[in-house]
Amino acid sequence: MNTAPIIIAIDGPSASGKSTNARLIARKLGYTYVDTGAMYRTLAWHCLQRGVPVREESAVAQVCREWRAELVCVEGHVRLLVDGYFPEAEIRTAEVSAAVPHVAAVPEVRHWMKLHQRDCARFGHLVMEGRDIGSNIFPETPYKFYLDANPAERQRRREADGVQENLAARDQKDSQRAVAPLKIAEGARIIDNSGESPEQTSARIIAEIQRALVGR
Ligand code: C5P
Repeated sequence: MNTAPIIIAIDGPSASGKSTNARLIARKLGYTYVDTGAMYRTLAWHCLQRGVPVREESAVAQVCREWRAELVCVEGHVRLLVDGYFPEAEIRTAEVSAAVPHVAAVPEVRHWMKLHQRDCARFGHLVMEGRDIGSNIFPETPYKFYLDANPAERQRRREADGVQENLAARDQKDSQRAVAPLKIAEGARIIDNSGESPEQTSARIIAEIQRALVGR
C-alpha cells in the first residue's frame, strides 16, 4: 500500500474560487488545508510593518533570510507564524494585496516558500492552493487542478468579499514574473467554475479525485 502523503494541488488566478473550494475539499476528505497565498501575504505584511520597500528585491530577500517564521497546523489548517504571531485579517488589506506580487517575484522568497511548502507534507495528506503548486512546488503529484472563472465574475466575487482591487493587474504580474509564474501545470485538469456554486465545483473535483485514487 502506498502511504506517501496525497497532495491535491489547486492553482488559478485571483478570485477563481481556489480558497473556498480547497477548504471544502480538505474538510470533506479530512486532509490538511494549505493556503500558500496567505504565506506570501504574511511576508508582504511583515515587510510593510517594518517599513521595508517591497519593490527592492535585495531588501525583501534579506527579510526573508532573517524572519523568524514557522509553520504549525491548527484544526486541519496550516498557519504561518511570525515571531510566534498568526496574522489573519491584517494580511487581507488592499495595501498587502498591492504589495504581495512584488514580494512573490523575488527568487529567494520563492526558494524559501518552496522549501517550507514542501515541508507541509509532514502534516499528512494536503489540499494546497496557490499559483505554482502543480507546476513548481509538487510537480510530481498526479492530482492537479487549475480553477478559472470569467474575469467579470471573478471581479464580482472579490467585491462581494468587500475588497476593491484591480485583479487583472495582479494576475498579469503573477503570470509574467520570471520565477514560477502562474500557469496551467502539465497534466492539470482545468475547471471553469463560472456560474457554479462552490458545492457544485468542489463535488466535481472530489469525484475526480476519488476516481483517480482508485487503485493507488
Ligand atoms: O491567493 P492569494 O490571492 O491570497 O495570493 C496572493 C498573492 O500571493 C498572489 O497574487 C501572488 O502574487 C502570490 N502567490 C504566489 N504563488 C502562490 C500563491 C500566491 O506567487 N503559490
